[in-house]
Amino acid sequence: MKPFKEPIYVTESFLPPYEEYTACIKKIWDTHWMTNNGELHNSLQVELANYLQVDNVTLFVNGHLALDVAIKSLNLTGEVITTPFTFASTTHAIVMNGCTPVFCDINMNDFTIDVDKIEGLITDKTTAIVAVHVYGYPCNVGRIEQIAQKYNLKVIYDAAHAFGVEIEGTGIGTFGDVSMMSFHATKVFNTIEGGALLYNNKDYERQFNLYKNFGITGPENVEAVGLNAKMNEFQAAMGLVNLKYVDGQIEKRKNITELYRKGLREVKGINLMKDEESVKHNYAYFPILIDEKEYGMTRDELVERLKEYNVFARKYFYPLTADYECFGDKYKSCDLKNARYIAERILTLPIFGELGKNMVQDIVYIIREVVGDSE
Ligand SMILES: *Cc1c(COP(=O)(O)O)cnc(C)c1O
Repeated sequence: MKPFKEPIYVTESFLPPYEEYTACIKKIWDTHWMTNNGELHNSLQVELANYLQVDNVTLFVNGHLALDVAIKSLNLTGEVITTPFTFASTTHAIVMNGCTPVFCDINMNDFTIDVDKIEGLITDKTTAIVAVHVYGYPCNVGRIEQIAQKYNLKVIYDAAHAFGVEIEGTGIGTFGDVSMMSFHATKVFNTIEGGALLYNNKDYERQFNLYKNFGITGPENVEAVGLNAKMNEFQAAMGLVNLKYVDGQIEKRKNITELYRKGLREVKGINLMKDEESVKHNYAYFPILIDEKEYGMTRDELVERLKEYNVFARKYFYPLTADYECFGDKYKSCDLKNARYIAERILTLPIFGELGKNMVQDIVYIIREVVGDSE
């Protein structure tokens, strides 16, 4: 195999037809209303609640600030049980709000928080569980709900990866007290940058809106110390247009997933994730788990070899957030056996709607070729 002429990155941001976007933003020139609960913002909020099958959606400028506002609004304090197998955002939002992250190990099956290990970490300081639907694979929401009820804990899900995911036909955003979704350019559905909180309890709405707009309640009244985390009209326009294409994009991702699975199934030492029968998946990522002994090469070696072919896979998630430089040795002694094992061996391969069938087949071929398995 020769290297690809152009680099293939782990994802390529989806853009709608140019004319459709410009037609949508034309309205902004008519009204000069660019942000602060504009017409497009409000329509997107309604359309997303409908698409995601959740009662309430509050939009934000990005996913991270949405999570930050959720933590503030639910008054989390003390210790928060969470996963280290995630993006920086999850842990940083906890720490920035003055809470102590208590890292729980992950399960070896879908890499979400290990529900059998949560109870052992609960103390009288624990106020919440912040879990992540990794790669869009749902956490064990039933068990988490039971534990939360028993110990009177709040539950926040980082559902940044889980756009459109359903469990037995129920929208992923209906579980827990509140879920955060990210609409960053690199996600399955994007509003350039953007995010949302999804929740059943309408009582939260006021607080979420307060915190995202400086805590302002009226022209002469500021009730809380808030942030500026509002989604603007250009973002909302991108969302409204992209929403028409998202089903098609998920379908394409599904086809790519099936191609990868078919090609890699027989490769020794490359372990793949399966679909779960009760789950509507969104195929946001294509992770492979590399057993270096069987495959004949470590994950890190494979990453370097792929680069020689102009393929840029990513180590999502490595390092664990618990091992970040900014935390020093604070969490080095946590029992994160599974999480460390997975973080050393996981690799997410390129996947996005416009990734061609031939390219997928070539990437599969390269993964076999570099270990001399290329008949
Ligand atoms: C993308 C992502 C976020 C942050 O979302 P932004 O919209 O980029 O702020 C949080 N958590 C996870 C797991 C993510 O992948």
